[in-house]
Amino acid sequence: MSKRDYYDVLGVSKGAPKEEMKKAYRKLARKYHPDVNKEDGAADKFKEAKEAYEVLSDDQKRAQYDQFGHAGPQGQGFGGFGGGAEDFGGFGDIFDMFFGGGGRRRDPNAPQQGADLQYTMVLDFEEAIFGKDTDINIPKEENCDTCQGSGAKPGTKPKTCSHCNGSGQLNTEQNTPFGRVVNKRVCHHCNGSGKIIPEKCNTCGGAGRVKKHNKIHISIPAGIDEGQQIRVSGKGEAGVNGGPPGDLYVVVQIKPHDFFEREGDHIFCELPLTFTQAALGDEVEVPTVHGKVMLKIPAGTQAGKTFRLKGKGAPNVRGYGQGDQHIKVKLITPTNLTERQKELLREFNEIGGNEATDEQDGSLFKRFKKAFKSE
Ligand SMILES: [Zn+2]
Ligand SMILES: [Zn+2]
Repeated sequence: MSKRDYYDVLGVSKGAPKEEMKKAYRKLARKYHPDVNKEDGAADKFKEAKEAYEVLSDDQKRAQYDQFGHAGPQGQGFGGFGGGAEDFGGFGDIFDMFFGGGGRRRDPNAPQQGADLQYTMVLDFEEAIFGKDTDINIPKEENCDTCQGSGAKPGTKPKTCSHCNGSGQLNTEQNTPFGRVVNKRVCHHCNGSGKIIPEKCNTCGGAGRVKKHNKIHISIPAGIDEGQQIRVSGKGEAGVNGGPPGDLYVVVQIKPHDFFEREGDHIFCELPLTFTQAALGDEVEVPTVHGKVMLKIPAGTQAGKTFRLKGKGAPNVRGYGQGDQHIKVKLITPTNLTERQKELLREFNEIGGNEATDEQDGSLFKRFKKAFKSE
């Protein structure tokens, strides 16, 4: 089993600075993350890049890798970093990682961006096609008004945690075969916040944050499709320590329609025609999302024929034109015929009007008859 060089995987040179590796990894993660890329081999490429970045972004692991290669000291290897093989982490986790959403910052007093929020909006078929302006109510965490987010009773102040001196982390030393290793752990006295609140705010119970409902105006663009999302910048949860708020992602789901189906910008439907309408031709009204349209049915129309109404589909959400409506003919065979109707149909059959000509599907009749002769 040969493994590619981690620097080659990220496409950076051996002495590359961290910032460059971060950029390279971010690019690969966006390209190959299993949430966005369903192609064969994408998951493996993502895993490979993730492993490479995890090792090279850690000074200690990078130094070991530079010295010993993939084997690591005494053949330990690096393959086990970053959890189980199938644990990719959500796509959002990657962004958290780069934009500081998670609690990965070393300094608990540094500004942190608020969490992103996701809201699923269910739209009617027509709403997705024509767009919609609406207000939604989002429950989200905001800084507490009573204590201005500090968590301390008005008039009092949070104190610096004496156990970790405000760093939020405690050092623990461990003896290993390679010497003494210092590990950092989250301080359990202050839960990593670096602060102790002697008198807690009554409104938020010391959390500094409260759940609030927030009315947000959302403009859904015409032509939006199932699963697409709209990013509303800065409407996620409030940041911590004066950090910027996260973003709100509105994910669209579309209710199925009784008659229409949608594929991209095109709309599909079936048109029921009687045998006589198809044989003699007719002019029929067809519903579209843009209103009724008269459709001319030529005499001798076969079952399964598709008519196209140009521009009667959905507008392209990026503004590239407009889809069509495709109408497929479905022939309805009459049932519950009266005696008189049956008589007329038998007579029609006897005078030989029931066979299609060659220009239509006559050739199928010929092939059908020929199939018996080979027996
Ligand atoms: Zn409060
Ligand atoms: Zn502490």
